[in-house]
Amino acid sequence: CIGFVPTMGYLHAGHLSLLRAARRRGGKAGKVVVSIYVNPTQFGPKEDFPSYPRDLKRDLNLCRTEGVDAVFAPRDKEMYPGKTGSRRCESADGPRFDKRGYSTYVVEEQLSQGMEGAARPGHFRGVTTVVAKLFNIVLPDVAVFGAKDWQQAAIIKRMVADLNFPLKIVVAPIVREPDGVAMSSRNKYLVGNLRPQAAVLRRSIQVVRQTVAIAKKPVFAPKLKARVRQIVKAAPAARLDYVEFFDPETLKPATKVAHGTHMALAVFIGKTRLIDNSWL
Ligand code: AMP
Repeated sequence: CIGFVPTMGYLHAGHLSLLRAARRRGGKAGKVVVSIYVNPTQFGPKEDFPSYPRDLKRDLNLCRTEGVDAVFAPRDKEMYPGKTGSRRCESADGPRFDKRGYSTYVVEEQLSQGMEGAARPGHFRGVTTVVAKLFNIVLPDVAVFGAKDWQQAAIIKRMVADLNFPLKIVVAPIVREPDGVAMSSRNKYLVGNLRPQAAVLRRSIQVVRQTVAIAKKPVFAPKLKARVRQIVKAAPAARLDYVEFFDPETLKPATKVAHGTHMALAVFIGKTRLIDNSWL
């Protein structure tokens, strides 16, 4: 059994929990494969592709300590070969490479519309494309994704079903810092007084959860959204990108929020964009 964990590297305890989940799934005789690749086609032109934290040496050491069997860390020219080298360019659909060397993309058309898909045009097209490529290269029996990227996991599950990839998708829970902030490679950007402000995402979730728990009937989403806007505003460096309430499977937006509805939000802390989500 091959268990696979795709990552963009700069590994943290959240990633390590996925490796362990892959190990548990595969049993003693199983192999765990990790990919480390900062995929250029899932970043928008003004996003942090150039500055995304990278430290392959450190990542390889962590993988060794965790008993990972193989690491796949390709270069851009291996993933997206191009006649002019692997030069990334922009197009209306999202980032792409030299068409003479690479011209196939995988697009999920339903679940990718809202939230991250709306805020980051072309993002999921890059994600589904690279994950499909990685599945075909690694040929895993199981692939583990984090609940941290809830919409991404839902889209990958849909892609696997729609395109008949012969593997099982497992979604592992979010690993958090002691103050509740979801672990993320991007937390490295949060220096000085920015780091404590990242707690507004978790705080928003907790306030909403509490409100829903004590309400006698479903609560209107706009009311909860206004409350989240207030909470985020209280942190001086924070700016709400979106907050959404939705069905955890279909991702269909909910106008009335109750126990079992899912919540996701994206917040800029300074220039750093963070996401979080939870079942309510
Ligand atoms: P990334 O390297 O950010 O692309 O993430 C690689 C995988 O790790 C994705 O499936 C993420 O959802 C997952 N992941 C990232 N952060 C966390 C976390 N804090 N807890 C659990 N899984 C995570």
